[in-house]
Formats: sequence, structure tokens, C-alpha cells
Amino acid sequence: MMWEAQRSEVVETARRIHHAGFVAGTAGNVSQRFREPGGRELMAITPSGRCYDTMTADDIVVLDMQGQRIAGDLAPSIEAMMHLAIYRARRNVCAVVHTHAVHACLVAVTAREIPPLLDEQVTFLGGEIVVADYALPGSPELARNAVAALGSRNAALLASHGAVAAGRDLREAFDNCAILEKTAHVYALARIMGDVRALPPHAVEAGKTAFAARSGDAAPDAS
Ligand SMILES: [Zn+2]
Repeated sequence: MMWEAQRSEVVETARRIHHAGFVAGTAGNVSQRFREPGGRELMAITPSGRCYDTMTADDIVVLDMQGQRIAGDLAPSIEAMMHLAIYRARRNVCAVVHTHAVHACLVAVTAREIPPLLDEQVTFLGGEIVVADYALPGSPELARNAVAALGSRNAALLASHGAVAAGRDLREAFDNCAILEKTAHVYALARIMGDVRALPPHAVEAGKTAFAARSGDAAPDAS
């Protein structure tokens, strides 16, 4: 099988988001970008509508960066365009995970931006969590809106839909998913408790500097 290692890693991360409870049924999708020995960049992505428990490396679809299928018999995830758009916009992102995690969805239906609340949120996700404007699943608008909401950060919410997290590799993208879900959970409960206090500005600045150094991307706008 071509690219068995890269496809197996995608299956492993897809199982992790399923077992973590970040998706139900066949929802969500996982991809990674890699370079073949000849130099061409490719993306391995989960297929559309397949159960995670029985998914194998063979089921993972390999596309080129224009979205042409290179390997795999199944249809790619309907959000393949969103994954490709994120890779095109973000040189240092090599893995993308999209989930329908409960607390991410909870904040996503309120369409409220999450301010920088927790040190780890800023250090690992890049700061505030922006909610992408609503667009239909699988649409080019959703891909554009997700890229805009991510900016140079590693997590965003999708209005009335779910969450997207990025990373330099699958392990980091999964961890960022988990930090995003925790951040959304804390924010939702803090709002119920009443008093949500953002991090002090110097902590936000320090966290964003640490994030930029880790991710290799330009520091997110400090505003
Ligand atoms: Zn979705």
C-alpha cells in the first residue's frame, strides 16, 4: 500500500478523537500533509461516512494539494476542501483535526469569541478563539471562513457546527483539540458562574511569543 505509515497515523488519530468523545458516529475528520520522496506535497485524509472502529489505513484517501485523488477507493471527507485551504494558508501546519466536541459546539452556537483565559490556551492555541461565520458543511465558504477564523492561531470554532484544530503533526493537532475542548468547557461554565476574567495583557503577550516560537508562524496580532 502506498504511504501506509502516513495513512496509519491518520487512522490512529481518528480513533483517538472518537475514543475521547470529540465526535459521535462518523462525524469529524482528520488529515495530515506530507511530502513524497519526489517532492510533491500530498494530504492523507479520513474518508466520508466511515465508522472509526473499523477504519483501516486502506480507507484513508490521499489527495494532492489541488484535491485530485492519488490513492484510496473511498470518497474523501466532505471537509477535504477546508483541510486543503488550511494547509495552503499555513506553511507550518501539517495536521488538521475537525471535531463536533460538545463544549466547542456549546460555545459555537453562541457565536461568542473566547478571550484569552488560560495560559495553555495562549501558549498552545495562540490566544483568543474566534468563531468562523456559519457556512454549510463541505462548502467553499466554510473553508474560507475557517481559514479566516484560524488566522495564525491553531484552533477555531465553526458557528453552529464544531471545532477545528491544527498542529505541526497529528499528535500536536490532537492535543490542541483537547486544549480547545477544555478551554470551551471552562469558558462556558465560567459564564454560568458569572465572572469571567481574561488573562492580564502581559501574560497574553508572553503566551503569544511562546506560541510563535513553537509554531514557527508569525506572532498573532497582539490586539
Ligand atoms: Zn463537521
